[in-house]
Amino acid sequence: MRQTVRLGRFAGIPIGVHWSVLVIMLLLVQGLAMVVLPGGSAGYPAAGYWSVAVIVAVVFLAALLAHELAHALVARHYGIRVRAITLWLLGGVAELDGEAPHARGDLLIAVVGPLVSLAGAGVFAAGAAAAHAWGAGSLIVTALSWLAVVNATIGVFNLLPGTPLDGGRVLAAALWWRSGDRAAARRTAGRAGVLLGGLLIGFGLLEVFFIANVGGLWLVLLGWFLRSAARAEATEAGLRTALAGVRTGDVMTTPAVCGYTHQTINNFVIDVACRYPYRIFPVLDLDGRLTGLVSLTRLGRVPVGDRDRRRLGDVQAPIDPGSVLDPGTPLVDAAPALLAGDHRWAPVAVDGRLSGVITAGDVARAVELATLGSTPRRSDHGVIASP
Ligand SMILES: [Zn+2]
Repeated sequence: MRQTVRLGRFAGIPIGVHWSVLVIMLLLVQGLAMVVLPGGSAGYPAAGYWSVAVIVAVVFLAALLAHELAHALVARHYGIRVRAITLWLLGGVAELDGEAPHARGDLLIAVVGPLVSLAGAGVFAAGAAAAHAWGAGSLIVTALSWLAVVNATIGVFNLLPGTPLDGGRVLAAALWWRSGDRAAARRTAGRAGVLLGGLLIGFGLLEVFFIANVGGLWLVLLGWFLRSAARAEATEAGLRTALAGVRTGDVMTTPAVCGYTHQTINNFVIDVACRYPYRIFPVLDLDGRLTGLVSLTRLGRVPVGDRDRRRLGDVQAPIDPGSVLDPGTPLVDAAPALLAGDHRWAPVAVDGRLSGVITAGDVARAVELATLGSTPRRSDHGVIASP
């Protein structure tokens, strides 16, 4: 997830917030200052409600952060690199690079977040009780009680047993521990997540239609989000199993059919484009370096009279350096960007030199071959066109 606002680092982990958090914070402060706090303790001036609301919202955010940090620190204990922690609309995400070496590690990484939220709830509840006993203002007691209830809710909700919730990861780790089959465990937890999302949508709709509570729409939104995330995870778990050990270089077409910067469009069309069954071609300079790409659509936009004169180097589209793949990249890591990209096509290169090209079709073929119990071999049917 893209961090739009960087807050800094904690224990070397970059911490940031997504823009959606700003919206949530505004709604939260407003809800606290105008509804929750006056409802729990009447008779304070508006400025009192608003300033306590701001503090409570900040503490709430800090508690979310503590939840994610707990995941991150335990993950790091098991040698997993933590790329970043980002807070967003529905909570937080700790982005981990890699997986725990064993089920126990996975289980602890998952369970520690909700435990921190529940512990936070306990601390806030004790604080509220103490404040009440010492005769502190009811505004403080209401604020601490609200923090206790919300943290308890976050802890319990996250323990529901379905991916992508922490409880889903706990379930997957427990199943993995018992069966020894990690992929199957993840698929089961994914299916549980889809089911759980459906149940939340159902409850939300019941709330909206039978109790006429519009708050049910939140449950519907949450359920819908859970369902799609669980589906994506189940698909990814399946992909990971099918493509284990397959690298981008095993699947790419090499050598690639390509054009050269100095070729005129007409020459390229006659010599190359009409002889090979492709619609997109990488473009190389005379030193063999990858400089861009041309598609037949793009070439077709050049006026007919200019095609004898204009060269591929003039009309090529730039290549986003991030979309260039390394032949050693595991296919399962390369697949998502490839499948989501504009062209569903990517060049494979080492140090700027083209090794081959790969398409979404190549990924699909690798998955289909895997279901047939086979792995793809290099397809050498392409030929580099003569410059
Ligand atoms: Zn969590």
